[in-house]
Amino acid sequence: MSTLPETLECACWIARQLFARRLSNGATGNLSFRFGHAVYITGSGTCFGNLTPQDFACVDLETGQVVAGRPSKELPLHLAVYRRREDRAVVHIHSPYATLWSCLEPEPREDCVPHYTPYLRMKVGNIRLVPYAPPGSPELAEAFSSAAAHPGAWLLAHHGMVVAGKDLMSAFAGAEELEESCRLAWLLQDRGASRLS
Ligand SMILES: [Zn+2]
Repeated sequence: MSTLPETLECACWIARQLFARRLSNGATGNLSFRFGHAVYITGSGTCFGNLTPQDFACVDLETGQVVAGRPSKELPLHLAVYRRREDRAVVHIHSPYATLWSCLEPEPREDCVPHYTPYLRMKVGNIRLVPYAPPGSPELAEAFSSAAAHPGAWLLAHHGMVVAGKDLMSAFAGAEELEESCRLAWLLQDRGASRLS
């Protein structure tokens, strides 16, 4: 098992990759991982492009109390995942195609990204649409919380994506797969391409 410094370095590498691939811009997006009974999450206002281990806040998973730093305002989304699933890492980004697709409020809500290739279902599962609520609001936390227990990942309407994984690398790979599936969905919409069942 990796040490805490190794895991923090891995999280920073992933953040920089997401920034370099233009899947996160400015100070948007946040990511976290579970380590023992603690959750380490990117701090409020930090930029994925130059993230360092010092930019993480630490939160007690059980109580939600902040142990160190100032966590992202989307902390409740991350805690909801860890409290309802076995996953140990969460990535939330406003990547271009996931955000575009989320603005269409696609149906059905429990499987809102069409399967034109088999990879989304293989690597991530079905994607559930969470209705719009302002970022960081209790309403968003509540809407997400009731969707968090379901398998697969999530699009937040008019906002972006949330992907969880058994570790940071699988959450990262899942986020890339979801972005690619949303890109296909956007480019193929209204073109009559057949979907996999
Ligand atoms: Zn966001």
